[in-house]
Order: sequence, then C-alpha cells, then structure tokens
Amino acid sequence: QAKAAGRGVARFFVPAMQEALEARLLWESELRRGIAEGQLRLFYQVQIGPGQRVRGVEALVRWQHPERGLVPPGEFIALAEDTGLILPLGNWVLEEACRQLAVWAHSPATAHLHIAVNVSARQFHQPGFAESVHGLIQRHGIHSSRLKLELTESLLLDNVNESIATMQALRTLGIAFSMDDFGTGYSSLTYVKRLPIDQLKIDQSFVRDLTTDRDDEAIVRAIIAMAHSLKLEVIAEGVETEAQRSFLEHNGCHAFQGYLFGRPMPIEQLDSWLASTQGRVSGAPGQA
Ligand code: C2E
Ligand code: MG
Ligand code: MG
Ligand code: MG
Repeated sequence: QAKAAGRGVARFFVPAMQEALEARLLWESELRRGIAEGQLRLFYQVQIGPGQRVRGVEALVRWQHPERGLVPPGEFIALAEDTGLILPLGNWVLEEACRQLAVWAHSPATAHLHIAVNVSARQFHQPGFAESVHGLIQRHGIHSSRLKLELTESLLLDNVNESIATMQALRTLGIAFSMDDFGTGYSSLTYVKRLPIDQLKIDQSFVRDLTTDRDDEAIVRAIIAMAHSLKLEVIAEGVETEAQRSFLEHNGCHAFQGYLFGRPMPIEQLDSWLASTQGRVSGAPGQA
C-alpha cells in the first residue's frame, strides 16, 4: 500500500472504493456466520405439468438476516460464488431438499413430487460432487429420481467434458437435469445434444413479453421445437399471465412455473397450498 502510494497509485483508491470493499467484507462475514448459524431458508415454487398437476417444486434459497429481514438470492449468491461460500451454502440447500423429500416420501399426497435444486458452477465442478450427492441420497433414504438439478449453460460449457462426466455419474444414480435460463447463454445445438440433460427451462426473459414481442415469440417457438426434436422436456419459467400460459401450451410447452400458479413459499405454506388444491391448479390460478 505504502509502496503503491509512493508511485502515486493509491490516490485512485478513493474512499468510496474503500467503503465498498469494507461493506463487501462485512456482507461476506455476515453470510459466513448466517450459513453457520442456520439463517438460510428454502422457499418452494410449484412446477405445473400436464393436466394442470403439480409435479414438483423448485427450491429457492433465502437468507433470513437478523436485521435486514428476508434477503433474496440475487443479493448474496454472486458473493457466495466469488468467496467460495457457495460450497457450504450449496451443501446446505441440497441437504435441506433431501430432508424435505424424505418427509414427503411418507405421504401419498406428496411422495411423487420432485424438488429441483439450483447448482452453481463452483459447486458442480468441485471434486467429488457426484459422490457427495450420492451420499446425501443414501443418508436420507430418498428416491433419486425425486431430486432434479438445475444447471446453467455457462456452467456446463465451462468444461464440457468434465461436465458430461459428472452428469453421467449423477445420471447413473437416477438424477435428472434441467438446463436453467435456457436461451440466455451460448449453447449450440451440438452441445445440447451431447449433454445428458432431460429438460430445457425457457428463461423468463423470453416469457415476459411473449404475447407482445414477435422476436420473443419466435425464440420461444424455436426452443420448444428444439426440445421436441431432441426429445427433451420443456418447461417455461416466469409465467405470470393466462395469455402466456395458453400461448406456451398451444405451441407444445406443457410444463410451467410462475406467479400465475404460485410464488416461492415457505414449506408450511406450500403444504397447505398442496392440501387445499390437492395438487391440481384449477381454472382460477393466481395464488398470492
Ligand atoms: P432461477 O433459478 O432462474 O429462479 C427463478 C427466479 O424467478 C426465482 O427468483 C423466482 O422467484 C423468480 N420467479 C418465479 N416465477 C416468477 C414469475 O412469474 N415472475 C417473475 N418476475 N419472477 C419469477 P429468486 O428466488 O430471487 O432466485 C433468483 C436466482 O437465484 C435463481 O434464478 C437462481 O439462479 C439463484 N438461486 C436461487 N436459489 C439458489 C440456490 O439454492 N443455489 C444457487 N446456486 N442459486 C440459487
Ligand atoms: Mg432455477
Ligand atoms: Mg431460471
Ligand atoms: Mg432465470
């Protein structure tokens, strides 16, 4: 620092940067403590399949901060990825999802449901990831097909061969994969064909203006057609209106997720939602 100052570099290190750095370090140490002290929470958002039935949920992490309240993942996942905290965080999410699947396995009303878990690049590429997931499944005594992993294009294209090897190891266990935020990355048809994925998830940025933007309409149609020709399942995220849902359905997309059906909710709320709807969304969706 002193040496740098001597060369006249430090004067660019303005107080604002110092403050930002300190804020970040504080946020990091709070997150570290939050993970260790059990401040993470899983929320669940329903995924609707053919026949308007709930087929499963996506697990979405939140941080119940003691002073700041419920913090959304957009405010801490990137930091967790940068600092390596994504490893303990990701482990906690997987563990909690498996624990919930074990609870659901006891009731015929919920035993068929899957939980889709988002996995970050650093977590997925860590040595022994497939083995650790295997260990979790065994320890909780759950059916591996109930656990689904959501991976992004960039994560997989990072190192295609290694990704394929890890995916194959997990697939042998019976775990399914969804390619999240599909269409926002750079995957070519060739890559998608090589990857052992089961589902494409149309990114919500294409769904948003689906009924008014011709380009988005064309992109969504193309993704659905691509999924069909590759024999992959396709699900749309961010479905908020009946107009979007019906456009998607008419174009061959039979699985949906979005506020139209339900927001991400804590487990108690999900359980009562499932009980009251009997796992089927009727003509009047739009749950809060
Ligand atoms: P994602 O996996 O693409 O999740 C979908 C996001 O869209 C969620 O935001 C969800 O609440 C939101 N969403 C769902 N339906 C609608 C809708 O109809 N309209 C709109 N506008 N938004 C909708 P959330 O929960 O804030 O999560 C943001 C991102 O954080 C996720 O995007 C995912 O990339 C990441 N994330 C969440 N939980 C985890 C986790 O446990 N591990 C990792 N690595 N990442 C996570
Ligand atoms: Mg996701
Ligand atoms: Mg997504
Ligand atoms: Mg997204």
